[in-house]
Amino acid sequence: MSTKRNNPETIAIHGGDYKSDPATNAVAVPIYRTTSYQFNNTEHAANLFALKEFGNIYTRIMNPTNDVLEKRVAALEGGLSCVTVSSGQTASSFAILNVAQAGDNIVSSTDLYGGTVSLFTHTLSKLGIEIRYADPSDPKNFEKMVDDKTRAFYGETLPNPYLRVFPIKEVSDIGRKYNIPLIMDNTASPVICKPIEHGAAIVIHSLTKYIGGHGTAVAGSIVDGGNFDWTADPKRQPLFNEPDASYGGVIWGKAVPELTGANVPFAVRARVCLLRDLGSALAPDNAFAIIQGLETVALRMKQHCENAEKVVNFLKKHKEVTKVIYSTEHNKPIADRAKKYLKGGYGPMVGIELKGGIQSGKTFIESLKMFYHVANIGDVRSLAIHPASTTHSQLNEKELAASGVTQSYVRLCIGIEHIDDIIEDLNQALNKSSKGKLRAVS
Ligand code: PLP
Repeated sequence: MSTKRNNPETIAIHGGDYKSDPATNAVAVPIYRTTSYQFNNTEHAANLFALKEFGNIYTRIMNPTNDVLEKRVAALEGGLSCVTVSSGQTASSFAILNVAQAGDNIVSSTDLYGGTVSLFTHTLSKLGIEIRYADPSDPKNFEKMVDDKTRAFYGETLPNPYLRVFPIKEVSDIGRKYNIPLIMDNTASPVICKPIEHGAAIVIHSLTKYIGGHGTAVAGSIVDGGNFDWTADPKRQPLFNEPDASYGGVIWGKAVPELTGANVPFAVRARVCLLRDLGSALAPDNAFAIIQGLETVALRMKQHCENAEKVVNFLKKHKEVTKVIYSTEHNKPIADRAKKYLKGGYGPMVGIELKGGIQSGKTFIESLKMFYHVANIGDVRSLAIHPASTTHSQLNEKELAASGVTQSYVRLCIGIEHIDDIIEDLNQALNKSSKGKLRAVS
């Protein structure tokens, strides 16, 4: 089935080359539980290692089950190549480590998942990579922070808790003036947004979330859009223009297009250097679990978004709710960005602030009967959490304020259950929230 069919419903099921298992004709993608692959002869082995020929070498670097997932995720995002990794955190780490080294900097949006802030501020900074934070409400803030050591821009399409949609084209256009690629984390908005169409060069996902959908496997992916010229300004992108001593002096920006016919040096380097050196490979069992979820992602996103919009309308009228945070519930121009960048739904996540502040928030969460109280997002089940005391608890006051988490903020990830059941559960918990009477979570 050709991946030129551009409909996400079809890509998610048929994308990539896989029709059936070449050895057995099995329709479901088999789990290739092998670490190694028999070489045809010594020349074949040498060619694979020298990248003269592409093929399976060792599962830390590639695996046929993962390959099917990679081709489908690349097609879903409208990119040319994809590398799967052990988690979303690995995807964001690799995306940065693939362009930046000690002494370099990245300009990142302030609106980020708490784990990404922690990775950027605490771990990458110790490796000598500086992350400069820019408020995305004005895209020009990115330009103000560029210097000759800036290697990439970084943003999240639909970041919680603010749920302000990122100005993808605006920031990408600024980046392209300086030959700086935009890396987008599209975890919360697969199908409804395709950042590459708006100029992003790289798209990462925590596949753990909406693409997996069932909460059964942790996984990540890095998609190379194939739309960025890594060699246009050699000083700007030294890792793609200087000889790599670890690969016999190869210059990735030139060698990959020559060897593969595709402009995907970012994906190839991430695979053959970072997976080789740092590991963090995705287990094929987990790739299989994610493939099952991926097949229904378009349907699920539609239902998540439809339900979320109904929940927003319900919450806006509820007496215990003082504020509803949703991608379309912002002042201009932020609200307009939801309409510009999200198609087929405005997102599955909703934030609320309650009349009674932090205590009401806690009582509300503990009164929910059907919603799960978990740190995850992107599950078929409806989920709720109080970020200030959980997912964002390792951030200091300044970081909390920058990321938009107030003490009374509650994050809801609206699932695909029947909307009546979702609203009934929210309603009964909201009505208890100001009374401070806790009930066991069932
Ligand atoms: N990016 C975003 C937007 C996330 O929400 C998360 C996890 O919640 C991650 C990345 C990290 O993903 P993982 O938990 O798969 O490591």
